[in-house]
Amino acid sequence: GKFIVYLNNSIISDIKGHEAVKAAFEKETGSTFNEYGDNEFSLFDTSCIGMSDQEPAALINFQPFTDLTPKKVKGIIDSLKNDENVKDIASKTKSKIQYHPEGDKAIIFRSYEMGKSIREGIKYSPDEIVDKISKAKLLGLGGAFFPVGYKWNSCKNNEADTKYIICNADEGEPGTFKDRALLQYLPGLVIEGMVLAGYATGAKEGIIYLRAEYQYFKKRLEGLLEEFRKTKLLGKDILGVKDFDFDIRIQLGAGSYVCGAASALIESLEGRRGEPPVRTWSATKHGFRHKPTVVNNVETLAYASRIIELGEDHFLSLGTEESPGTKLISISGDVAKPGIYEIEYGTPIIDMLGIEMSQATSPYFIQVSGPSGECINNTEFNRRICKEDIMCGGSFMVFNRTRDLLNILRNFMEFFKEESCGVCTPCRAGNYILNEKVKKMQRGLASQEDIKEIKQWGNIIKLSSRCGLGKSSPNSLIYAVEKFKDYFNLKIPPTN
Ligand code: SF4
Repeated sequence: GKFIVYLNNSIISDIKGHEAVKAAFEKETGSTFNEYGDNEFSLFDTSCIGMSDQEPAALINFQPFTDLTPKKVKGIIDSLKNDENVKDIASKTKSKIQYHPEGDKAIIFRSYEMGKSIREGIKYSPDEIVDKISKAKLLGLGGAFFPVGYKWNSCKNNEADTKYIICNADEGEPGTFKDRALLQYLPGLVIEGMVLAGYATGAKEGIIYLRAEYQYFKKRLEGLLEEFRKTKLLGKDILGVKDFDFDIRIQLGAGSYVCGAASALIESLEGRRGEPPVRTWSATKHGFRHKPTVVNNVETLAYASRIIELGEDHFLSLGTEESPGTKLISISGDVAKPGIYEIEYGTPIIDMLGIEMSQATSPYFIQVSGPSGECINNTEFNRRICKEDIMCGGSFMVFNRTRDLLNILRNFMEFFKEESCGVCTPCRAGNYILNEKVKKMQRGLASQEDIKEIKQWGNIIKLSSRCGLGKSSPNSLIYAVEKFKDYFNLKIPPTN
């Protein structure tokens, strides 16, 4: 069709009115979802598009439309039929920074001065930069929490004629949108993190792997890269430092969740199908085009930049022993104030739900780190976000007592069934089976035997899948069965 609509079907969209909006799209366009044809409008379901603070949301020709209602859908479709430009009627991206610590305690959301981190960085040798990042104990914030200093050091030590720095902007875990906020408000900080990673490791080329769903940022990012070049912050002999050459280009992803995993991302960048290969080497040795490569997520690079700008001691003065500093969390769901929160590591969940922060309404089930993460019940609200207790990749979804737990879990399992790349059997078939089990529970036909099988299948998938997707996909279900025993006992009476 002339217009391609991708409507988000994540659980947050679901609880915010997805069904009525979906029906409105079909009514107003005369098309049916997920059917190919030659209608003017082609409608498709898609998993999270990074808008969980403004659901229901859709992309139309890759422009965002948020806070949709059936009435709003009618207005949009009428305008498009009248030949109005999609870009002109798209929603303005309006990520809300709901909370950050005051003054010096804010690491990310403080004033930004273009080039400041790079200027500070070149006062040190590449070895010293790696040292600073290592001392700050910065962890990879895409969800794997791998030590960044270790990664940079390994890339630095691997001799090669060419090396690469890749910014992983493939944010796709349902419920997370903090990278979107960074790309909107502080893209310069991310670019400077890449330049510093290049300086530290000797890489001269950077690539921003931008998820297709965020391509509305591309033009602005390209304009910013041009500004960096003009001010000698990118290009040859950066800031007059001989042989410090580094430049960045943008490459678009194609909408696959598994490409957020570095190995699949590299496959995709090289033009192959985006699925994790069987590999026995690390990207810092044989990465993109088989050269030493650092793949860091958007937020990680922003923090690296701030650590160099503010000094590692400042970073270490905040947070906990194992998790210094702060962390960006995307809070969505049954809260009065969805949006981006910069919290100090060690902050208890109860505070994040409270009046000073998200103002949750009778929270009951909290999913930390998205469908691949862990759920929290109300006996655990004193747990703290940090390495010593529970880490959070970014997604923090709050559900209250009126929500149907099985409906939430079904949505998660449908997501993994759809997003499994299918290359290995346990993940491809196992997630299908787990989804069938949830459907069986919804129909009231499940027995305790099914609960047992869920646990068994969950273990098989976790132990024998090739990549992180399969290794974490059964988490939500397994944790929920353990932590919400009363709920499951009511649904499926225990056998004597
Ligand atoms: Fe693909 Fe799933 Fe196997 Fe990962 S675990 S390689 S997503 S089939």
